Amino acid sequence: MGPGWYDYENMTVDWNVPDRYEIVRRIGGGRYSEVFEGVDSSNEDPCVIKVLKPVARKKIKREIKILRNLTGGPNIIRLMDTVHDEHSRSNSLIMEYIENSDWKEVYYNLTEMEIKHYLFQLLTALDFVHSRGIIHRDVKPANIMFDRARRKLRLIDWGLAEFYHPGVELHIRVASRYFKGPELLVGYKHYDYALDIWSTGCIMAAMLFRRENFFRGRDNDDQLLKIIKVLGSDDFERYLAKYGLYLQTYDDELVQSHAKVPWSKFVTADNRHIVSTDALDLLDKLLRFDHAERLTAAEALAHSFFSTSCPYLLLGTAHSCSS
Ligand code: AMP
Repeated sequence: MGPGWYDYENMTVDWNVPDRYEIVRRIGGGRYSEVFEGVDSSNEDPCVIKVLKPVARKKIKREIKILRNLTGGPNIIRLMDTVHDEHSRSNSLIMEYIENSDWKEVYYNLTEMEIKHYLFQLLTALDFVHSRGIIHRDVKPANIMFDRARRKLRLIDWGLAEFYHPGVELHIRVASRYFKGPELLVGYKHYDYALDIWSTGCIMAAMLFRRENFFRGRDNDDQLLKIIKVLGSDDFERYLAKYGLYLQTYDDELVQSHAKVPWSKFVTADNRHIVSTDALDLLDKLLRFDHAERLTAAEALAHSFFSTSCPYLLLGTAHSCSS
């Protein structure tokens, strides 16, 4: 799409005055920002005020460039303004506000229809993002605002997102541990959009099997071990050999033999009513060691999991599924 699309370092940002935005309450924050619910006093509309901590200018420009490129896309959080406060010398992003349902309260009681809806909307966002040459690199429930009552989903936090350039190495210290793909855990720097698909698979497994997090490692090595103990060491070794990767580890368990566990083994009395064979088939095609084997977002959207009792027609949302 050319340098005008991806050259964020040479982009100029217009910082407006922040006077029209008022803070209502703090809703989150982390290493790079403090996030507030706010109100736009010019029209009384709610908004989110993301006050950026003084991190590298390059990182801020990348987030703004990506947000500007993607704003207006399906289920992408909308960037409405960029403001600079003279007094505190801080920069903030003003974004659309979403009434978010807390993941800890929803993952264990979503219906099959809601799981389909959630995943369909997430994959629709990722299909758009990936087709525009961008990898989110931090897909996880905390970065997916889901208004359960209004059935509205938005992918947020583009602070780690990056443009994909074939052949260019990427940093592997991205994504949150439980959602890191095997490529990050074995140090493979030529990864691509399929990283977001792995993270989506982790979310799908958590929803289907009603676990807050499906692969839950204590550290990065343990995270990889948790994955190998499900997908099996045979597939892992094939993956390493295919890409000429060598695992540097002091953890004996990582190099031991672990049998592949069929997905059906995770079906229990608690989750049986929401787990279909179509669901397990799709999950199996998202959670593959080899990123090249995972379905793309577009392929996943065309999977039969979404064509049985299509919820979008019932819910009347803008994006309909394939049936
Ligand atoms: P972020 O740094 O963008 O990941 O935001 C930190 C936290 O603020 C998120 O985990 C959400 O709980 C909350 N948040 C961020 N953006 C929004 C939004 N547009 N609507 C509602 N809550 C948000």
